[in-house]
Amino acid sequence: MTPTPPKRITANEAKGRAVETLHRLFAIHPDAHCELVHRNPFELIVATVLSAQTTDVAVNKATPALFAKYPTAQALAKATPLDVEPLVSTIGMYRQKSKNIVKLASMLVEMHGGQVPKSLGQLVELPGVGRKTANVVLGVAFGAPEGVVVDTHVMRISQRLGWTKETDAGAIEIALCKLLPRDYWDRASHTLVFHGRRICGAVKPQCDKCGVADVCPSAGRAVNVGRKAGRA
Ligand code: SF4
Repeated sequence: MTPTPPKRITANEAKGRAVETLHRLFAIHPDAHCELVHRNPFELIVATVLSAQTTDVAVNKATPALFAKYPTAQALAKATPLDVEPLVSTIGMYRQKSKNIVKLASMLVEMHGGQVPKSLGQLVELPGVGRKTANVVLGVAFGAPEGVVVDTHVMRISQRLGWTKETDAGAIEIALCKLLPRDYWDRASHTLVFHGRRICGAVKPQCDKCGVADVCPSAGRAVNVGRKAGRA
């Protein structure tokens, strides 16, 4: 007998299934949030710029001393990169990042009265701030992201869950924005990051402990699916 080909699902069915899975992930990680320690939008944008290509843990170790010395954009704008370097020297690419955050602080003072702007267009003009950083700030500080933040965890897990076949971060962001309701963009990103850090690791995914394994097309073979840490 000829095997029956798998039934194709419509775009609406795919959205419904993705949202259902996301609700389950929300329940598994109810405390999902941005793990960069900050007290206000200024600290968040500086911490996010510092976090490029490094871990939140490393950034969180350095920022208390940095923000104790430079608590505002005005204070940081008066510093030089050489003043800042010793405070962030444990973070990768700290020399370039020191230049970026001092320049960023100057631009906040000169162009935005020392405040962090609330538009993506204005944020991406700041040094060290790309679309991803801008959306972290818009989502976490202002609750109004203009896209889904796609980091290595979001990339890998959305591939493993079958939400996208794309491999480029920009294309994955577009796919996720189409798939998920706008109200979920910020929380979805934090939740996938939490899931990636705690359950669906790049090298050792724990499918046997995963609460969405019954609907995940990669369950039991995940190590061969999605972006690997070594390629992140
Ligand atoms: S079942 Fe495995 S691959 Fe799928 S989300 Fe869970 S841990 Fe990741």
